[in-house]
Amino acid sequence: MPVQSEEQQQNLRQELETQTKEIRQSLTEGDPPARPSARQCSHCEVRHLCPAYWRPETQQSLREEAGDANLPNDAEVRLARRYNGRDWEIQVVSSLRHPEVTQAVLRLNHSPGDWLRPGARLRLLSATSPTPREGEAQQSDLNHLFTLTAWGEVYHNGTPE
Ligand code: SF4
Repeated sequence: MPVQSEEQQQNLRQELETQTKEIRQSLTEGDPPARPSARQCSHCEVRHLCPAYWRPETQQSLREEAGDANLPNDAEVRLARRYNGRDWEIQVVSSLRHPEVTQAVLRLNHSPGDWLRPGARLRLLSATSPTPREGEAQQSDLNHLFTLTAWGEVYHNGTPE
């Protein structure tokens, strides 16, 4: 093992002191700041809970970084009214892949429970957005569809007002 010069040892000591200082400071500041990136956030298992992820400016920068097609079809929505057992009219609060959509139909292919009611705010993860076929969602003139299959997830993010 090569012997380090006095100068190398001094540099190493300074680097360690700087790192120790930074770590001590971050420990006193509480949670580390979120650093959203398309690669990390797309696979993050806590993104439904992450305030930074759902901010409009974050979603815009993720779209610019990755392009819509490479991002999960995540959306935050508010239930407006129920059409039938599985279809709801929804207001779209934010949509990572479909930012232009403000109203849509939510189709639940599995029931997340009996807590769904108008006004409830949900976060949808990994939904699909197929083009509705003729006659589908016919109770509505809304033509955007979010479908949650067994692969998708839904989280309650607020109680009805
Ligand atoms: S969703 Fe939030 S916690 Fe997860 S990687 Fe993105 S910024 Fe980090």
